[in-house]
Amino acid sequence: MPAFTTTNPVIVWFRSTDLRLSDNPALHAAASLGVPVLPLFVLEEVAGDPRPLGGASRWWLHGSLERLAADCAALGSPLILRRGDPAAEIDALRRASGAATVLWNRRYSPIHTARDAAIKDGLKRDGVEARSFCAHLLAEPWTVQNKSGGPFKVFTPFWRNLSADLAPPAPLPVPERLIPPASAPASDRLADWGLLPTAPDWAGGLRAAWVPGETAARARLTAFLEGPVATYATDRDRPDMMGTARLSPHLAFGEISPRQIWHATRHSADAHPERQKGAESFLREIGWREFNHHLLHHAPHMLDQPLDDRFADFPWLSDADGLAAWRRGRTGYPIVDAGMRELWETGWMHNRVRMIAASFLVKDLLLPWQVGEQWFWDTLVDADPANNAGGWQWVAGCGADAAPFFRVFNPVLQGEKFDPEGDYVRRFVPELRHLPSRWIHKPWEAPADVLRRAGLRLGDHYPKPIIDHGLARNRALTLFAERKGQT
Ligand code: FAD
Repeated sequence: MPAFTTTNPVIVWFRSTDLRLSDNPALHAAASLGVPVLPLFVLEEVAGDPRPLGGASRWWLHGSLERLAADCAALGSPLILRRGDPAAEIDALRRASGAATVLWNRRYSPIHTARDAAIKDGLKRDGVEARSFCAHLLAEPWTVQNKSGGPFKVFTPFWRNLSADLAPPAPLPVPERLIPPASAPASDRLADWGLLPTAPDWAGGLRAAWVPGETAARARLTAFLEGPVATYATDRDRPDMMGTARLSPHLAFGEISPRQIWHATRHSADAHPERQKGAESFLREIGWREFNHHLLHHAPHMLDQPLDDRFADFPWLSDADGLAAWRRGRTGYPIVDAGMRELWETGWMHNRVRMIAASFLVKDLLLPWQVGEQWFWDTLVDADPANNAGGWQWVAGCGADAAPFFRVFNPVLQGEKFDPEGDYVRRFVPELRHLPSRWIHKPWEAPADVLRRAGLRLGDHYPKPIIDHGLARNRALTLFAERKGQT
């Protein structure tokens, strides 16, 4: 990319995937020009947007912007907030400020790549310098290719290829200062955007669980690398432990970059060999994030259509009661219900439990994965188009490199294996808290006197299973086998 200079102000267009000052190539490039920098965030409201932010993401965005605004102001140039069509807002700001350059970091979901390309073309037509940078991924989706120059469809060779000689550039520092424009441009008030829920305010559990923003992201990474990373390879599957990094919302909103994570993890493992195994396993999961973005770039339809087109006309059921029970965490299967309640309460769910809960919706209830994907989209603070669709399709068995169709998660065995004492279930399903561990994942099998001593009336305090898992499993296997031509 040829170097460029300007004596005019520069607009840095922040988006909801790069809300940070450190390792921010667009901001860094702008600050090094030595001219006024206008940091801009546009709450995008474009007619026909198929995927507006979900409720939990809106809550997160508010907190993240609050912190970014404080950080920009501390560097010297306050964040400018606008809402509407980003093309029109950028245009208005550059005309008002005399900016002749607009910089941003690239995003990768299909609707956004198309929108950004159109904006770049429009700016260039108007003689404005428009440049974009890589900041959200270790490697951009089109740079990783298989031997025949095509995209990968299976994770292991993808990761082998990408990680073989991966040497991401060192993270960029926070600019020392941002020169403000001569006069402050108009800005909306964040509070007027209504991103926070009010009537009712359902965000109490989110506030208790999370602190959005770059500083909190860095603190989480540090805490993870000083503790859980050493045992991550084994503990990452245990929802009853704090065995994973819980960085996903920070990554989704770009409060921390994968490059920062990669370098900090490598550095930590080099200095402490006992962390090596966990570090490898952790970076492999960061690799799954890269893989899902790779898939989405090459198959944009995966957002709402199966990657395996044999599933295009799968005879999904429609079951409003079953769906409501799943959403509310009242299926009668404790590990599924704990997960769905964790999601509702905190905006996050442990990965192992995401797989179990998703499998239950798709394979036990035979409801379309897209319905689950939409619920997650609305309720997850880490909702990410590539990872969410990728995760759902993997569980449903219709994705690239999907779990085999005959893998139907058994909610009892999974609970007993990964939450052996039932601590996770007791935390999120308090009506089961007095049940002994032996019965916590299958209360319907507990003898009457055990239930009585636990103060539990099934079907009253807590539901009986809404479906028999064994029968549901056989029904799913028959249907899935037909799809795969394996009957
Ligand atoms: P860690 O285990 O500490 O991993 C570190 C980071 O690696 C994560 O923050 C995440 O960015 C990435 N990562 C970890 N596991 C996966 C994975 N299986 N696939 C892709 N990336 C991964 N993740 C999202 O970020 N957003 C989503 O909307 C999302 N939806 C999902 C839906 C389903 C049905 C399933 C099965 C998984 C989904 N995941 C999603 C992936 C995964 O569950 C979360 O990334 C993980 O639980 C986040 O917790 P963590 O930060 O503690 O992860």
